[in-house]
Amino acid sequence: MSDSKPVSPVPPDRPAWLPETGAARAASYRLAPPAILAFYEWEIGTCFMCRTVNRFVTAIGARGGEGGEEAVPLTVCGSCVLAQEEERRARMIRSGRRYVPGRIGQPE
Ligand SMILES: [Zn+2]
Repeated sequence: MSDSKPVSPVPPDRPAWLPETGAARAASYRLAPPAILAFYEWEIGTCFMCRTVNRFVTAIGARGGEGGEEAVPLTVCGSCVLAQEEERRARMIRSGRRYVPGRIGQPE
């Protein structure tokens, strides 16, 4: 029988969905790019941010669609997704909120 240990408080930077391993308590919980990109679905298209054509892009929203006009999907390439995720992560940490990847284009 082992003594029941008190539950250690969650480090503020660790997202709730990331299991506590205790291995990297002092390290950053920054995810590697493949892990971040895996939150999105990819197709070939044009990035509306850097204008690169024929790349893997992911739809993060749509523009227009009011007054009977057809909505234009906003698609972003992997480089721009990672840049956006980095900025979002920094914003979340600065304001004391929890960073969850995979939510570009959604309200913070
Ligand atoms: Zn791009």
